[in-house]
Amino acid sequence: MLRQYLEAKAAHPDALLLFRMGDFYELFYEDAQRAAPILEVQLTARHRGTESEVPMCGVPHHALESYLGKLIAAGLKVAICDQVEDPAQAKGLVRRAVTRVVTPGTLSDPALLESREENLLAGLVWEGARGGDGVESGAGAFLDVSTGRFFVRRWRTAEEAREDLALFRPREVLVEDGALPREVAEWVERECPCRTDLPEERRYDARRGAELLARQFGAATLRGFGLEEGEPAVRAAAEALAYAQDTQKSPLEHVRGLAVSLPADHLVLDATTLANLEVFRSQRFEGPGRRRGTLLGVLDRTVTPPGARALREWLRRPLRDAAAIGARHEAVGELLADHGRRARLREHLARLGDPERLLARAVLGTLAPREAAALRDGLAAAPALFAELAGAAAPLLAALAETDPLAPLHAELARRLEEAPAADLERGGVVAAGVDPELDRYRSLAKDSKRHILALEVRERERTGIASLKIRYNRVFGYYLEVTRANEARVPADYIRKQTLVNAERYVTPEIKELEEQILSAEERQVALEREEYRKLLAEIAAAGSGLTALAAAVGTLDALAAFAEAAAKHRYVRPMMGAPGGPLVIREGRHPVVEQGGREPFVPNDAELDGESAQIVLLTGPNMGGKSTYLRQVALIVLMAQAGSFVPAEAAALGVVDRIFTRVGASDDLARGESTFMVEMIETANILRHATAESLVVLDEVGRGTATFDGLSLAWAIVEYLHETGRPKTLFATHYHELTELAALLPRVVNRTMAVKEWEERILFLRRVVPGSADKSYGLHVARLAGLPPEVIRRAAEVLANLESQEYDLTGRPRLARGGGPPGEGPDQLVLFTPPEQVVAALLREVDTERLTPLAALNLIASLKSRLG
Ligand code: ATP
Repeated sequence: MLRQYLEAKAAHPDALLLFRMGDFYELFYEDAQRAAPILEVQLTARHRGTESEVPMCGVPHHALESYLGKLIAAGLKVAICDQVEDPAQAKGLVRRAVTRVVTPGTLSDPALLESREENLLAGLVWEGARGGDGVESGAGAFLDVSTGRFFVRRWRTAEEAREDLALFRPREVLVEDGALPREVAEWVERECPCRTDLPEERRYDARRGAELLARQFGAATLRGFGLEEGEPAVRAAAEALAYAQDTQKSPLEHVRGLAVSLPADHLVLDATTLANLEVFRSQRFEGPGRRRGTLLGVLDRTVTPPGARALREWLRRPLRDAAAIGARHEAVGELLADHGRRARLREHLARLGDPERLLARAVLGTLAPREAAALRDGLAAAPALFAELAGAAAPLLAALAETDPLAPLHAELARRLEEAPAADLERGGVVAAGVDPELDRYRSLAKDSKRHILALEVRERERTGIASLKIRYNRVFGYYLEVTRANEARVPADYIRKQTLVNAERYVTPEIKELEEQILSAEERQVALEREEYRKLLAEIAAAGSGLTALAAAVGTLDALAAFAEAAAKHRYVRPMMGAPGGPLVIREGRHPVVEQGGREPFVPNDAELDGESAQIVLLTGPNMGGKSTYLRQVALIVLMAQAGSFVPAEAAALGVVDRIFTRVGASDDLARGESTFMVEMIETANILRHATAESLVVLDEVGRGTATFDGLSLAWAIVEYLHETGRPKTLFATHYHELTELAALLPRVVNRTMAVKEWEERILFLRRVVPGSADKSYGLHVARLAGLPPEVIRRAAEVLANLESQEYDLTGRPRLARGGGPPGEGPDQLVLFTPPEQVVAALLREVDTERLTPLAALNLIASLKSRLG
């Protein structure tokens, strides 16, 4: 037996092997030592105390799922080795085989999955620089075995790859050994729960990869899916699919196609931005309640798992196509307008459940009878759901109304499945009566025989005169007669004693044994027939796969739209008008969707106006606690919500479509990465400066704060100048350096805004209103006083502040900070790039040493000054 074990283990070296023995799954050797503490079970040993002692531990087979959960949560893979023949009929050793390998990235079991999130496996391929152009090329293929969703992303830089991985957060990545760029490998090491290295023999080359995929999708070529011949994405997809098939021991028929998703199709949100805006995770709350304080928490009013997953995806990757965004808004508007209809739709939706994941389990052959019943009951709601949409005006809803409710599949399930089937197939009770005449015959035989048993019990009581005589059943003896000790004397001679208990004796008779034989064989046949029938039913569900996938997609879309409508109704959101890419962003009385729910003080709405002409960059100053960060995020969140298809928290909004939102908010240390706060800040800022376009929205909150004041201020200054001239993204920049507001006088597209406050008896009142102008002081000392710093500290700080402020301007009355080195190669006292030319000329003249000027040099100087003025 151990030999059998070792063989199975050799075929799955990187997984823990759970080896079925009787009613237990056992682990041996290192597997046992590794798993016992995780499973919290006793580590024992086989052949204890002998030379051949083998460490082992085990878990009862019926509790497998919960133990699997623990192993998977620990990032481990588990190969399940089952008995594949009936132990009763086996000659010699029972045959065993690995029937599936459970890995974090290939789960399909509802007990191990989070129903509202997807569970992705990612195949990563990196080909380095190909051809002469030196462009690197890599791809990731993302597969959710539990739903069949499959898509690829192409990458040209390691940074793109890392960003995507951080965005999609796969539970497991497949890596061709040594092939990843260092940056990506490090990310995987740090963030991914499970990494699987693909050995040489499990890799695919472009040709075999393309063959595998084409066969799977039943397509002659992959062109139709947007894949190019020989590109890395083909190999990545093939490797992911093959790995999933291999672990599941299934062809995975529900994976029927793949999408090539390009960053240009979506509003790009990097992982930092999602974190800063608290879209999915709050920075304050941890653990199970972490949806609290997030945008998802406010918007997710979905009632089905596909809806919840769709909504997440919409927020993670909002749209960029104005028409597609408008289509969602129109649908949300229609659903918002009719409260009764929305309520009815959501009621039907709630009954539909999760057809997508149920399909996957049918395909894998693991769908439990009660799940099949859930699918049946869900499908029962489909016709009413889609009928409710008939006559919808919004094209998106009208299209959803066309969804096939799969009436034939529902009819089959209704006809063939018991109304309330047994939990498993061990004892039958799953297939309905009338499906298979042979099955019905065995069933009534079994039932008849049970009636005969009851009749026999009555007869035996009469015959023996023992009123308390009972016929009972257990697994060891089968049926037997039980007589209490007091009645022992009345037991007839033909009873055969089987067992003596304290108070009773147990007997059998030939007649009972014969009946038992009939019952058991009828039951056995019945169970076998039910298994067969159920298998056919699963095959039929799998065959309806594409219909079910379409149905699930419709359910997801509708549920997410209805959730937006529900949120809009509850929180008074309005439909934003979408404008051309890069167009102005105008928000009237906007609110922060999460902070306004906080409710400690009434939320004060604020306007926002950004455009490429006169208000490209808004410099926002104001006291600590004034509400700057809230305002910045609220503008970004409104844009994000609008492009996801949601209505927005405002009185009105007109928004040009945005290509990316970048944020750099607060000072978040990333000590785990070994980078200082300031380093992280600069890395993120560099990323923004490099990628922001005129269609982007950039939110900078106190950039430059993590270093010495003058360093920080100088950097902030230069960054604003750069954004003003290069890329020209719409930018909101909150800062405590009120010196920065001088930029508004120098740069035409910079405007100043400040958070209004009222000073009152040495105290300040936050009005939370954004108004034109700049804060002339930062109120840091006020806030420090509020916080209870000792008065002598505050007094002394005020003195120091006064000294500092008195040096703020140079002798000419210009802010010192406005003087700069200018671009390299220019004169030493060059003023900033955007100073009026007259001032530049004056400054240059002041520098000239006339005593030493040659006539020729003078002539040249005049020419150069003139050209500056021209
Ligand atoms: P700091 O400079 O210290 O980071 P800040 O100016 O960025 O402060 P926020 O963190 O945005 O200030 O807001 C401070 C507090 O004010 C928060 O608790 C928030 O709930 C509240 N607040 C912000 N904006 C509003 C608003 N418009 N209406 C009501 N309350 C608000």
